[in-house]
Amino acid sequence: MTRPHVLVAGAGIAGPSLAWWLSRRGWRVTLVERAHALRTGGQAVDFRGPVHRAVLERMGLWEAIHERRTRLGTQACVDATGRTLAEVPALMMSGDVELQRGDLCQLLFERTREQVEYRFGDSPTSLHETPDGVEVGFEQHAPQRFDLVVGADGLRSNVRSRVFGGDDSHLRHHGFRVVGCTLPNVLGLRRQGVIYSEPGRGVCVTSARAEDEARALFVFTGAPLGPRERSPDVAREAVSTAFAGAGWRTARLVETLHGAEDLYFDTISSVRLPRYSHGRVVLLGDAAWGGTLGGQGTPMAMVGAYVLAGELLASPEAHAQAFARYESRLRPYATKCQEGASHVGGFFAPRTRAGLFLRNHIYRLLTTKPLERVFEKMVTHAATGFELPEYAEAFTPQSDNR
Ligand SMILES: Cc1cc2nc3c(=O)[nH]c(=O)nc-3n(C[C@H](O)[C@H](O)[C@H](O)COP(=O)(O)OP(=O)(O)OC[C@H]3O[C@@H](n4cnc5c(N)ncnc54)[C@H](O)[C@@H]3O)c2cc1C
Repeated sequence: MTRPHVLVAGAGIAGPSLAWWLSRRGWRVTLVERAHALRTGGQAVDFRGPVHRAVLERMGLWEAIHERRTRLGTQACVDATGRTLAEVPALMMSGDVELQRGDLCQLLFERTREQVEYRFGDSPTSLHETPDGVEVGFEQHAPQRFDLVVGADGLRSNVRSRVFGGDDSHLRHHGFRVVGCTLPNVLGLRRQGVIYSEPGRGVCVTSARAEDEARALFVFTGAPLGPRERSPDVAREAVSTAFAGAGWRTARLVETLHGAEDLYFDTISSVRLPRYSHGRVVLLGDAAWGGTLGGQGTPMAMVGAYVLAGELLASPEAHAQAFARYESRLRPYATKCQEGASHVGGFFAPRTRAGLFLRNHIYRLLTTKPLERVFEKMVTHAATGFELPEYAEAFTPQSDNR
């Protein structure tokens, strides 16, 4: 492969991050995104500890991310009267630095758009591997051959279904659903967040950059969702039903949801796969190890892109070995981080009154001075548990071979 041509499906976080690394070494990257424009919705996403920071610094993004940080402080768990029952420190909810998912998405797009061919409003419809490439059929574009295909197309990856079989069999449902969106700032929040929970349902509202906006996350118990059950209308209906009769200011929040446009609706589920790659096709980010919420999906997508790019660039002629090294390095780390997704529903919406009481009690205890270090370790240990490989030579830019 003199100048390999890679198809990346998905212009979220993982896809553009990988494209950034590969394209600066002269690889041709075509990035196909199903949506007609960049999907800049979503809540705040955060980075914590030296591993995340090192990747951002190596991508030259640390400063830009800092400039866009949310600066959120503690978040208060309140009761129906609005009284604070426990405070969750910024480190747990916002890490070392936090920004809106959409800002990061936009930043990655800006940094790659010149070198990478973006195709919006299209999606692969078939993948057929031949001895020297993958023939890919598209919904819109003519079929084309690529050297490698990367599925960075999220939790419900289309590439994964095509290569490893049906979507649902690889998703482990944790019993909760989540709806995220931007709402008018009806609570008047300023650089702060509030969490209100009742058994089996909880809502978290945080201030946004625009003072008249807030970000809301509704978490509630519910069955798995089929592919056609995640539309904005179904999401609004599901929240109305799940939060009917809920206390505090929930009714007002549910009411404003009807005007929200950027609804994100999914189950809290984790991807479980026996392998990350098959032949010339490899999965990255949520498609490989996603966990919806609480699994550090965004930093993991960027660490994963760094490792996959490093391994591919170190041995461009031997993709099978590169994919194997990528998986063996990353799987234990990704699996550990993904564990957060199995607990996050129970944090926002404990299933019982006793569970709710216990959550508030534990957070009150953990945030006292003597237990500060224990708490810090608890919220950073998964993120820091990885030795970032060095690929200095492989990453040296080769602008002359473009
Ligand atoms: C709109 C949106 C809002 C989100 N909001 C939150 C949030 O509030 N909190 C949170 O923790 N996580 C959220 N996530 C998930 C979070 O972004 C990921 O966990 C993380 O960033 C990992 O990134 P990723 O690139 O692997 O996946 P994603 O960021 O999910 O990106 C995947 C991309 O693939 C595209 N895609 C899907 N199917 C196809 C297809 N067939 N062909 C081509 N492209 C396809 C999607 O449109 C998307 O742009 C959100 C994701 C999206 C897309």
